[in-house]
Amino acid sequence: MRVLLVEDDPMIGAAIQGALKDASYAVDWLKDGRAALATLNSQHYDLVLLDLGLPGKDGMEVLAGLRAKDNPVPLVVITARDGLDDRLRGLDGGADDYVLKPFDLAELLARMRAVLRRKGGTAAPVLGNGMVSLDPATREASVHGGPPLLLSNREFSLLQALLVRPGAILSRSELEDRIYGWGEEVESNAVEYLIHALRRKLGSEVIKNVRGVGWMVSKGG
Ligand code: CA
Repeated sequence: MRVLLVEDDPMIGAAIQGALKDASYAVDWLKDGRAALATLNSQHYDLVLLDLGLPGKDGMEVLAGLRAKDNPVPLVVITARDGLDDRLRGLDGGADDYVLKPFDLAELLARMRAVLRRKGGTAAPVLGNGMVSLDPATREASVHGGPPLLLSNREFSLLQALLVRPGAILSRSELEDRIYGWGEEVESNAVEYLIHALRRKLGSEVIKNVRGVGWMVSKGG
């Protein structure tokens, strides 16, 4: 899952970025509203965390600019403005949820998972295709209801990217986008290495290779 963090406070931004990385998200961090809007108009993200008080362009302007272009990216507002007016404006303006500073990082992560579930069109907290299941809260995988299997952060990110849409084929670059944030070095065979590691843990039939195109998990197990 690739997340764009838009936050101009260096300490809060660094704390959120660290927590998101620990939770296996690929994180890109911008500190300016104008740059955020330009980036969101040209790149795919699974979720945006948006501060409201920003240089360049206010967070509410960023939100308005996105929704005016029918960009449906899931968006959580993070803000110190705790007035009721601001909260309502944010939700009316197309935010999916908000958290008020100072907030607990565990709560932020839980709200992100809830927004991703709702926007993904499924109320189920666990992803799965009938063969393999993955719990985003605990980051444990299970095959055919077997014992929980521990995955590394990047193994989790890759399996999650595939399980969000069983049956969809993701190319190497699409998988890299969901696993690595800006500035993170990607080894040329990193995706193959992770697929290999996942197959050893989950069984070779779980992830299918479509030669020359990419990888998928089957729809319906
Ligand atoms: Ca700010």
